Amino acid sequence: MALKKDAAVVLFSGGQDSSIALAFALERHARVFTIGFDYGQRHVVELEARAAVRREIASRFPRWALRLGEDALLPLDALGRISETALTRDIAYAVAESGLPNTFVPGRNLAFLVLAAAFAYRRGAGVLVGGMCETDYSGYPDCRAEALEAQVRALRLGMDADLTLETPLMRLTKAQSWMLAERLGGDPLVELIVEHSHSCYRGERATRRDWGYGCGACAACELRARGYHAYLAEKDRPGA
Ligand code: ZN
Repeated sequence: MALKKDAAVVLFSGGQDSSIALAFALERHARVFTIGFDYGQRHVVELEARAAVRREIASRFPRWALRLGEDALLPLDALGRISETALTRDIAYAVAESGLPNTFVPGRNLAFLVLAAAFAYRRGAGVLVGGMCETDYSGYPDCRAEALEAQVRALRLGMDADLTLETPLMRLTKAQSWMLAERLGGDPLVELIVEHSHSCYRGERATRRDWGYGCGACAACELRARGYHAYLAEKDRPGA
């Protein structure tokens, strides 16, 4: 099956990384769909952030609004039921014996890719785009390029379709991914992502900080704050 190389499906959670991946896809591709998964995350705020980021991008970037197509939010509660993690159960964030944080849902990105590929196939879209990042502090094995490339190869064979995967953030630090956002949409895009994307594991949106909303203490907030401040420091460097 021949799929369109100028049509993309973005794996979009409403977080910082997938929001930047969405902007990247909108800059590159003529038609862009988004897909997200509801697997019993404790925080409805994450799902609300998806709608807010899409809405704000469409209203502030008319050239992208023309390209932004339908959004699909698929229920995936099976994933939550087989995974006892801090994202889906009412337990505190911690680092498990495996060395991975207990927010890790085994194989999550691999499962997402299967469903995103089926969705893309049905819409004739040949490109999948995701915000996965190898340089993440947590080292989730299903964020690594090698695992994702193997999965996409399996999907190409299993669907007999010429799908490709773009992961623009794969080898970027968090500061570099903010710089990518700035290159794509200038300060307005950076501000939009700070204001509307969501990262905090505790689902806190009561307190606004310079890097966005969050508790300021969980691992996701720490990573986001550190990355944003490193970006600001880079930006202010003479000659940067
Ligand atoms: Zn937090």
